[in-house]
Amino acid sequence: MLLKDKVCVITGAASARGIGKATARLFAEQGGRVVILDLDAGQAENAARDLGVSHLGLACNVTDKAACQGAAKEVVGQCGRIDVLVNNAGITQPLKFMEIEAANYEAVTDVNLRGSLYMSQAVVPAMRTQRSGSIVCMSSVSAQRGGGIFGGPHYSAAKAGVLGLAKAMARELGADGIRVNSVTPGLIQTDITGGKLTDDLRAEITKGIPLGRLGVADDVANACLFLASDLSAYITGAVIDVNGGMLIH
Ligand code: NAD
Repeated sequence: MLLKDKVCVITGAASARGIGKATARLFAEQGGRVVILDLDAGQAENAARDLGVSHLGLACNVTDKAACQGAAKEVVGQCGRIDVLVNNAGITQPLKFMEIEAANYEAVTDVNLRGSLYMSQAVVPAMRTQRSGSIVCMSSVSAQRGGGIFGGPHYSAAKAGVLGLAKAMARELGADGIRVNSVTPGLIQTDITGGKLTDDLRAEITKGIPLGRLGVADDVANACLFLASDLSAYITGAVIDVNGGMLIH
């Protein structure tokens, strides 16, 4: 049991086939007490119930600072502490550079980047008090290779921003015993692609992946488990690629 009795908050974890839900399931199997945050309270509660009785589901829009603070307060009230945060909530839009309007830019940077900032700010006081904690930030291969699959340039920029934010947090929070790392998934089969992943496109993308397949949510969940647990006790500011070799650098 790698997360025995650890309180683990995961944002955007209600989506049934998503990376967040797979991570929540794995963390629960490893003894963690999981808190699922997502936009809709009912969906978050149902997702938590799927994991078992001791887990929590709460509504939290990560773009809303007060909502993030409120959720963290509720978690500390009910669970007493916060050991792990996975900043997983994210959205993407398949736009070309010249198509990006202000509303697109705001939507995508708000959820991916601002949300990671606000939710981290909400949990850090509890982690500082405990003098321990692990924060995992969900970036993307899109940040490293400049998009080119589903996300538009604004998604690449937001996810590259996540990498910078996580590294700066790692530098500042290390003295408090708080580790901050990022995961950069390649193409993972979840609902984020909104049904736009045709068989032809899948075959084309697979040709460029040395391991010969697209990723599944559990591939990313396993990396999150490593970063959340004490197996990575001396790792902070790192970026773990989970892309089947799609980008080797
Ligand atoms: P998903 O669409 O299945 O899940 C995203 C979840 O985030 C949903 O449950 C959604 O309700 C939630 N969410 C959206 N906006 C929110 C907000 N403002 N506040 C709280 N929750 C919010 O997508 P996924 O593929 O599981 O993606 C999870 C993360 O992994 C995202 O950050 C995504 O950018 C990243 N990622 C995914 C892939 C991929 O190929 N699937 C690749 C690289 C990175």
